[in-house]
Amino acid sequence: MPEGDTVFHTARRLDAALSGRRLTVADLRVPRFATADLTGREVRDVTPRGKHLLTRLSGGLTLHTHLRMDGAWRVYEAGERWRGGPGHQIRAVLGNEARTAVGYRLPVVELLRTADEDRAVGHLGPDLLGPDWDAGAALARLLAAPERPLGEALLDQRNLAGIGNVYKSELCFLLRVTPWTPVGDVPGVERAPALAARLLHANRDTFRRVTTGRRDTPLYVYGRARRPCLRCGTPVREAEQGDGTRARPTYWCPGCQQGPAPS
Ligand SMILES: [Zn+2]
Repeated sequence: MPEGDTVFHTARRLDAALSGRRLTVADLRVPRFATADLTGREVRDVTPRGKHLLTRLSGGLTLHTHLRMDGAWRVYEAGERWRGGPGHQIRAVLGNEARTAVGYRLPVVELLRTADEDRAVGHLGPDLLGPDWDAGAALARLLAAPERPLGEALLDQRNLAGIGNVYKSELCFLLRVTPWTPVGDVPGVERAPALAARLLHANRDTFRRVTTGRRDTPLYVYGRARRPCLRCGTPVREAEQGDGTRARPTYWCPGCQQGPAPS
């Protein structure tokens, strides 16, 4: 599942493939922008903002994409076969003479003026992998709603940008509280932003996510329901957190993590 580290890594690959070159192929397969002709424009840079990707083009345009649950951008050499999924899943194609970037299953593909990027990403809190990362500001945003469950607060991109469902569960484990613990009741909550930044930094150059420091067991609790906790051996539990379409599977160890949890 794409989180801030994946998006960062993806942006770097797209930037290496596209920046400083003119587009010879540009195809946005979404109804609203299907007729937009971007060929001839130079790609200025590809920048991650939280879990959003901003591909900036000459002429003051930005292509905004978001990977959400299972979107992906793949980069292919000229003549290489595209293997990222069936053709009907392709939402965007950007290419030059040497390389082609293909965006699969992208739930967000929109073209906007670079000057208007804030419309797409202005709501985001401090970016965990951004040049302007500010742990103090992120903490202040988290503490602004002390009654909110920690898991929900960490996922809210307005508090800090880049955490997805995997890091949410792993961070709660490392903070030794359940994801349902109110932010204001978390001992050492002031460590949370720096801890999150450290985890994302450690994984920003790879698609394989490791929070434990061990390649054979890369995650403490995420995706490990009913298996023994790596620290205490208690079976890891799983429950949904959040309402309706925002509900996400959440993992925790009842042995290591204090606080409220669904029965
Ligand atoms: Zn445990």
